[in-house]
Amino acid sequence: MLNEILKDVSDYIAWEQEEGTLSAEVSPNIVAALATASPKSGGTGSTPSVSPPPAAPPPPRPPALAKIAAEIAVCTRCGLHADRTNTVPGQGNPQPEILFVGEAPGKDEDEQGLAFVGRAGQLLTKMIEAMGFAREDVFIANINKCRPPDNRKPTREEMDTCLPFLKRQIATLKPKVIIAMGATAVEGLVPLPEGQTISKVRGQWLEFEGIPLMPTYHPAYLLRNPAMKRPVWDDLKTVLGLLGRSVPVVKKPTD
Ligand code: URA
Repeated sequence: MLNEILKDVSDYIAWEQEEGTLSAEVSPNIVAALATASPKSGGTGSTPSVSPPPAAPPPPRPPALAKIAAEIAVCTRCGLHADRTNTVPGQGNPQPEILFVGEAPGKDEDEQGLAFVGRAGQLLTKMIEAMGFAREDVFIANINKCRPPDNRKPTREEMDTCLPFLKRQIATLKPKVIIAMGATAVEGLVPLPEGQTISKVRGQWLEFEGIPLMPTYHPAYLLRNPAMKRPVWDDLKTVLGLLGRSVPVVKKPTD
């Protein structure tokens, strides 16, 4: 047990050093002692094992996303924090090819602390699977991390207040492509020229900090306007093309 804790501390220090965020002075002797701690050498804290430690799997990827989520969890930067049940930082593969971005959590998301788990989320799952991915393969997040009352659209100020979290997530995730779903997601990440609307820009590549961004309709809009599923499927196929992936043979369109 003690050795497991020491190993965790050792990994943590190594990560902090890698990130350049370690502020505490740690004696080289302590670092050396920590580095030799073996997770399997017993929990007594007695004499360290003399045999070489078994080959250990690489330490888990630095919890940079967890750090951002922890900050989101205690955020009170805007008024949306007052009514939330849970913050919704987003979830998925920490090294995704695709990042899906929506607007803000709804009721189900607020209750569960997870993005896109309600009806719109179920449709999003179908869209992801139609592209040949599983939900776990991609990352799903929102512009705003707290639910606006009555699911109203977040104000520009609320979006701007929350956006640094998403920008840090994107910098960590480094997706190959971002799919921005709905006007709020697009406007949050890319300033659109006056008069441009989601229906005008959807399907045309934009860019966020060097990352290709595909604007498309929001799944909640598709639930109300099923005829728009076809153009969204076209947008998703354009994304597959950019990723060098073929369109899955057994296509399950977004219905
Ligand atoms: N709509 C969104 O924009 N995001 C969610 O997480 C759920 C619904």
